Amino acid sequence: MSELQELVEGIRRDLESHLGEGKVADYIPELAKVDPRQLGIAVATIDGGFHTAGDADTPFSIQSISKVFTLTLALGKAGDALWTRVGREPSGTAFNSIVQLEYEKGRPRNPFINAGAIAVADLILAGHQPREAIGEIVHFVRFLAGDDSIAIDHEVAKSETETGYRNLALANFMRSFGRLDHPAEHVLGVYFHHCALAMSCRQLARAGLYLAAGGSNPVLGSRVVSRERARRINALMLMCGHYDGSGDFAYRVGLPGKSGVGGGILAVAPGKASIAVWSPGLDQHGNSLVGTAALELLAQRTGWSVFGP
Ligand code: GLN
Repeated sequence: MSELQELVEGIRRDLESHLGEGKVADYIPELAKVDPRQLGIAVATIDGGFHTAGDADTPFSIQSISKVFTLTLALGKAGDALWTRVGREPSGTAFNSIVQLEYEKGRPRNPFINAGAIAVADLILAGHQPREAIGEIVHFVRFLAGDDSIAIDHEVAKSETETGYRNLALANFMRSFGRLDHPAEHVLGVYFHHCALAMSCRQLARAGLYLAAGGSNPVLGSRVVSRERARRINALMLMCGHYDGSGDFAYRVGLPGKSGVGGGILAVAPGKASIAVWSPGLDQHGNSLVGTAALELLAQRTGWSVFGP
């Protein structure tokens, strides 16, 4: 067995007694049904290696991790004009916060908080019906992962559509400042559906490889973005990927990462690997509790860090 394979299995074993810790997101009723005692880990190295442990093949709701993929897609469409709509600063507030929107006249602080991702969804919607934009996002994520079986969990999308009052408020508030080009219901149709993409750690680690390998997927041989753009997306993940827990994640793990309230985290070790972990129990910021612990152990044991050898 390879050293890295032993290492990921060791992490899974070492965290066994912590499974079930944290609180599963229940503001999206469909997510409250997930068994919290699960942990999956998948590491895809840029030389084509692949290592998994635990529940790495169980699909889960990727939620806000999808914001990395929609940002990538929207940058491809709008280029740097995207930054007139959304900022690049950490928010220091909860992922669903509305307060800064008033001070900043409807321009969200970054593309990873809900308001920012809603603005990104609005850009992807340009010239399309919501259904087409959703199709384009699914297609893009399948291309990134090299896996056509990836799909949206429509029960999750429906569950969030029925209860997403806060997101509806964010979208309407932005629209009141003239910051959205489309009706809130259309933009949220896109947003809720991309959040409801279901992927396993295995699929997610593969989809994130382009960020670890300078913008192209070395396994599939496909270029996704330029080197410069991959670095910049990683920078945003490091600064903003865990909302008001981003500083703590950088301190403990030392890698760019993006979390979702489904309990998944995509982390990037540039030049080395793309890593996906999943465990449904969340901390007070909505980031996976045991998933973060798994990444912390992985970073310690491999020595992977963007802050030094
Ligand atoms: N769809 C979720 C929401 O809008 C995404 C939040 C998250 O994963 N942090 O609340």
